[in-house]
Amino acid sequence: MVTRPTAAPATVDRHGRVINYLRLSITDLCNLRCFYCMPDGITNKLPHDQVMRHEENLEVVRAAASLGINKVRITGGEPLVKRGVVGLVYSIASIPGIKTVAMTTNGVRLLEMAEPLRVAGLQRINLSLDSIDTKTYEEITRGSELHRVIEGMDRAVSLGFPIKINAVLLRGINTDNLFEFVAFAREHEVGLRFIERMGFDRKEPLFSQDEAIEQLSRDHSMEPVDTSPEHPHVRRYLCDGVKIGFISPMTHSFCASCNKLRLQPDGRLRVCLASEQSVDIREILRREHTDEDVRDAVRKAIQMKPAAAPWNAPAEMWKVGG
Ligand code: SAM
Ligand code: SF4
Repeated sequence: MVTRPTAAPATVDRHGRVINYLRLSITDLCNLRCFYCMPDGITNKLPHDQVMRHEENLEVVRAAASLGINKVRITGGEPLVKRGVVGLVYSIASIPGIKTVAMTTNGVRLLEMAEPLRVAGLQRINLSLDSIDTKTYEEITRGSELHRVIEGMDRAVSLGFPIKINAVLLRGINTDNLFEFVAFAREHEVGLRFIERMGFDRKEPLFSQDEAIEQLSRDHSMEPVDTSPEHPHVRRYLCDGVKIGFISPMTHSFCASCNKLRLQPDGRLRVCLASEQSVDIREILRREHTDEDVRDAVRKAIQMKPAAAPWNAPAEMWKVGG
């Protein structure tokens, strides 16, 4: 197992927020095409030479760790389609200052990869699962076999991974009986979070956190639970005794507690999910540079973070990674 050395001093942004979390999107490719994430017409294949190499991502993580980033979540596209991802997990987990290495995945490849990922030092998995009904799952993802994803999830649980299911609330598609998700989470011993669908052009039908709570409260007990300091953006409840959470970017802004930077596969360090502002770190890495140049780029991105999401960027969640 990987030993985790002590942390660097924290970096605070202009708005007094401690920035300690990096979401690392390692590919724009995916083996699914969820309709709300990759609408028709998206051509998500960056030219090979524009994609960050693992060594380049590691250089950024090292710089970020020296500035107080202590948690890295590997995402995509689909991170498990990227060659060398297990080695990348191991290398990130070995970087001084990195305390938590997590991943967000659609789980299609988890069955065969859960074990090597565990050995490499991955600690937590968020599994995107928007339906537990085979037909609806296929309609949403436009492919894949739900049973494989569930087998992979069960395998990961048996290996000791803490798993949280992320289910995006898709009005009229998976929102008729939200308690089915809760019962499923209880049966499979995984956590559950409902996520509001982000509409970047504000035309997508929203099913809000409040509607979800209202529906669940009709036939089930819903007790609010204190927010965890580690996840201040998640509103938590006990639903018939099962811990569930809500992430509600559309109706309950959590910008005041934002602690994240996001690195895209094209090397743009995004300062906010809903802002087009970024620092082109790939350009720095591919010319003669020092470690301090990379740290400066990370510091610059941190100081560019807006107080609140300006919502002036296209979604491109398949690139930014959520
Ligand atoms: N492919 C991986 C997966 O699906 O877990 C990682 C990348 S995916 C872009 C990360 C997360 O973003 C998923 O949980 C997905 O449901 C979520 N997502 C994508 N588009 C979204 C949207 N418009 N609103 C809310 N969440 C979205
Ligand atoms: Fe792929 Fe994840 Fe987007 Fe679905 S949500 S299309 S699995 S990147």
